[in-house]
Amino acid sequence: MLKDPTAAGDEMIKALAASYDFSLAAVRRLAELYPLRVGGIIASLKTPAKRYFLRVNTLKATPAEVVEELRSRGFEAYVHGVLPDAIYLPVRGPFSVRRLEKIVVAKKEAAESVYQGAHLYAPGVLKAEGVREGERVSIVSPRGHVVAEGIALMDGEEMVSRRHGLAVEVEVSTFKVPSVRELDVYKRGLVYDQSLPAIAAGHALNPRPGQLIVDMCAAPGGKATHVAQLMRGEGRVVAVDRSEGKVRKIEENAKRLGLSNVEVRVADSRYIDLEMEDLAGADAVILDPPCSALGVRPNLYYERDEEEFRALSDYQRQFLKAAAQLLRRGGLLLYSTCTLTLEENELNVLWAARELGLKPKELAPFLGSTGFTEVGPRVQRFEPDAHDTPGFFISILEKI
Ligand code: SAH
Repeated sequence: MLKDPTAAGDEMIKALAASYDFSLAAVRRLAELYPLRVGGIIASLKTPAKRYFLRVNTLKATPAEVVEELRSRGFEAYVHGVLPDAIYLPVRGPFSVRRLEKIVVAKKEAAESVYQGAHLYAPGVLKAEGVREGERVSIVSPRGHVVAEGIALMDGEEMVSRRHGLAVEVEVSTFKVPSVRELDVYKRGLVYDQSLPAIAAGHALNPRPGQLIVDMCAAPGGKATHVAQLMRGEGRVVAVDRSEGKVRKIEENAKRLGLSNVEVRVADSRYIDLEMEDLAGADAVILDPPCSALGVRPNLYYERDEEEFRALSDYQRQFLKAAAQLLRRGGLLLYSTCTLTLEENELNVLWAARELGLKPKELAPFLGSTGFTEVGPRVQRFEPDAHDTPGFFISILEKI
């Protein structure tokens, strides 16, 4: 008897999910959109992109100047060439790391940073049984992926009980991303670490000096500071985030970059149209809401299930509603996500077009791929296997 082809598809999905340690719900979504590429896409998602991007603060320096300074300090660095303010540094690796007898288990996000060469700090440690200060240890993810080797700088008990301090100094990591925050060009506010698609998103909005722009989910301020920079410090960028602690990060970043036209507010921006009358009639709104982050690289493993994907897409629609209310007629909404699912991207854009009177506009710059559904040609997807970037989605919607 012939096998049911959908059942065969399901077997493949299960096999991929098991071998890559990605949830069935995630693999199903990717397989539906990219039936022939799903394995390659997940393999890319598990590693960092080969180029590490920085946005140059063009109010303080040109990309060529920053590249020259980085080279003079021994770094390999390049001007992007299409985006007027993007530069990149190559990521090195993979290097082989061993599973040693002594193991420190890091939380998922900490393990993903260590995998790329960061040191491990105490708040990122989940478990470190029997580890003594001075010993050589392997750092593993909560699911057992070995990400790096290093030297324990405290006893295991101390690692899990202390809330601060360097726990393991990493000596060999799987990948090595340049540690930009220690660089002089970073401290002087000449650069902001931001991915290529995120930089492209800021340009797609094409902000103008003097405008009022509201960023509804702004922390740590990547897009908000970018548009403030593109406005040449003139006009107002109101950067809103629900988290008080994260809002401080926006302030720090704006200060470091020397931007005086960024104002921060702590609020639940789903109700911003009702609560902040002074923002009515905004020229542009940025909405980069919480998403399933399936496009984030590296994702060592991925756990979100059906229910979480659905809930996120509903949550995003609440923000879209408020965004449509804030905008003036003719005003533009930048809607972006760092994920690849249809329901958080194209289906939300189609919903906003149908329900909220927002019209998808053509995008420039265009460095990714067109999307799916009838709105496909007017949205932009970045695909990790094809573009050497995180998975990302950009759309610009005009209020009519
Ligand atoms: N746009 C940012 C990244 C945003 S990540 C950048 O380019 O740097 C999503 C942010 O949404 C998080 O900082 C989170 O704190 C915030 N957020 C989540 N729910 C929110 C809500 N209801 N109101 C406002 N902000 C919210």
